[in-house]
Amino acid sequence: MCLKRSASCRRAGGYHRPVPPSKDERREALKAVYHQALGCTNCPQLAATRTTVVFGNGNADADLMFVGEAPGANEDRQGLPFVGQAGKLLDTLLGEIGLARGDVFVCNVLKCRPPGNRDPHPAEVEACQSYLLSQVELIQPRVICTLGNFATKLLRGDPTGITRLHGRDEVRVIGCRAVRLYPLFHPAAALYTPANVDVLRSDFARIPGLLALDAPPQPAAEEDAVVPVGADEEPPRAVPDPAPLAAEPEPEPVGAPAPLQLGLF
Ligand code: URA
Repeated sequence: MCLKRSASCRRAGGYHRPVPPSKDERREALKAVYHQALGCTNCPQLAATRTTVVFGNGNADADLMFVGEAPGANEDRQGLPFVGQAGKLLDTLLGEIGLARGDVFVCNVLKCRPPGNRDPHPAEVEACQSYLLSQVELIQPRVICTLGNFATKLLRGDPTGITRLHGRDEVRVIGCRAVRLYPLFHPAAALYTPANVDVLRSDFARIPGLLALDAPPQPAAEEDAVVPVGADEEPPRAVPDPAPLAAEPEPEPVGAPAPLQLGLF
């Protein structure tokens, strides 16, 4: 399925307004989407079994974004992405190229943990995609590293697997934004196959060079942007509307670890 977006991206990710222009406005808008995601019940099973919604965290104005698959048990408990073994490897590899978590934004295709760490269901990927699209729209990264098959297939809109694609950058339009997409092995998968840690490390070594390239030209406002969300499926289904971007953030829900999750914003 391909979601076609209307001119000027007024329906980008299912929302109906232009992206706010200033960095501070985009940051506030991102917080509003975060607050909306905290109460999301689009996927009844995930909403019933999660401990926290793992929205993602890091620099809200990052040039580099990482998109993984879905929170695991540690992430679900702490409300933060990539805090387990895979996250440790991610941190190590980032450090080796002179970056830290606070320099990048890290999130997942799914914001809630699938029970037992099962694979995300297609309906869950579809239901959650508007949050990811909002994150791309509002953070405006120049480079997006997709970690593993789920993120790669979703953002490329193509079933080609990560083994063929890793380490090759390409410019893609995600929502309304042209970005350099750079598929990488998922760190958790690399941990299972130690030889792939070396492959991941050498793919990581190219990231500084990608960040040094000129930002890809953005599509003209009049052009239809195409959001690839998978191949050969039926026409677009409506995606849920995130909270209005101009809305004031709602008060922190009692007991939710919001300040921690938003710590680096
Ligand atoms: N694996 C993921 O894909 N995401 C996380 O946040 C943790 C592990």
